[in-house]
Amino acid sequence: MDLDLRTIYLAGAITCTLLGLVQLLAFATGRFERWPLWWGLSNLLIGIGTIGVALRGSIPDLISIPLANLVSWTGYLLTLYSVRSFAGRPARLPIYLAAIAIAGILLLLWNEPEGFTNRVMLMSVLASGCDIAVVREGLNLLRRERLVSGAILIGLFAPTAATFAFNAYLAASGQIGPELFTPNEAQPWLAVTGTAFLLLRGCALLLLATERHRNALVSLAQQDALTGALNRNGLERSIEELTAEAVRRPRRLAVLLIDIDHFKRLNDTHGHAAGDKILLIFADAARSELRASDILARQGGDEFVVVLPHLTAAEAIGVANRIRAAFGRALAAWGETRVKPTLSIGVAEGSVADNRLEALLQQADEALYRSKRLGRDRAELHPAAALY
Ligand code: GH3
Ligand code: MG
Repeated sequence: MDLDLRTIYLAGAITCTLLGLVQLLAFATGRFERWPLWWGLSNLLIGIGTIGVALRGSIPDLISIPLANLVSWTGYLLTLYSVRSFAGRPARLPIYLAAIAIAGILLLLWNEPEGFTNRVMLMSVLASGCDIAVVREGLNLLRRERLVSGAILIGLFAPTAATFAFNAYLAASGQIGPELFTPNEAQPWLAVTGTAFLLLRGCALLLLATERHRNALVSLAQQDALTGALNRNGLERSIEELTAEAVRRPRRLAVLLIDIDHFKRLNDTHGHAAGDKILLIFADAARSELRASDILARQGGDEFVVVLPHLTAAEAIGVANRIRAAFGRALAAWGETRVKPTLSIGVAEGSVADNRLEALLQQADEALYRSKRLGRDRAELHPAAALY
């Protein structure tokens, strides 16, 4: 089958240019961050550069060889730059500028027709290296932010990295050339595949951005705006997850119900802002005593729930007292000597199988009530804890 390389280049290049313009338009709406600007510019430059390459023979060589290749290369680097910008990684501008300058010098050195193989090798190695760097960023996004679409980014950039590396091999082994549009078996297919991936890649960052925004919204909807602890909605979700897990693998856990003593009086005497500050101080102090797998949630007002997986009743009482001590230290460090609220804590411990978590919360509530009755500023264990 005859595949015309020049037509493939032109069709891909024009589509890429249009895609770049659409992405720049999206950026111009002001509804996105900065990365669509780099992504759009990247596609625009790759598109324009490739049009220049495709017009080889019809326009001066100086434009179609060093300039067109350099524009494409700059576009390639901008793809990496936009992915790094999306991932919040450092810009490393001097490295990018040096990479453009070095490629520019080499392209000028190999400007003559005899330099064709060197040019193909250079551009293929550079593009492959760039794609490998994008794959690395995809892995980072997958690991650090747990963005599953990072796998799509990897899936779209790894094949082009391999295609460009193969192209470099073909050039090095003399299977491409001696000119760009010399009839050849493999190259048109590589160009078709490369172009298809180049265009598909435009979707990868869009998917990543959508997933990141969705995650941010879900976490906002489950978070208490003042303290950053989970809100009731978040707590219910966590309870559902824990209960579902417990059906598969029953486990024991401890629950603390924590309430700030005489908080209403404190609000009335020192003002709502001081009350808010104390809620914040409490949440930070509690978090400093908890592990990553523990759950801190604001039940409402001045009442908080802590879920401690795998802890015994005695260990849970220890955590409760450590939170009380940490809260006392944090208040002392705040320097507002007139305000010294204390904590009353109810502790329950047991198995979470068969929806027992709700029952545990009820027991923690009873234990909290008991510690209020016994004079506040203490942690009390529900008597049923020992039975489980
Ligand atoms: P006790 O020792 O029995 O727990 O007494 P208390 O005054 O702490 O108990 P109560 O539950 O009556 O008071 C809770 C108060 O918390 C009532 C409300 O004014 C205050 N509150 C609820 N939400 C907020 C908030 O977001 N910020 C501030 N500053 N106060 C809040
Ligand atoms: Mg209270």
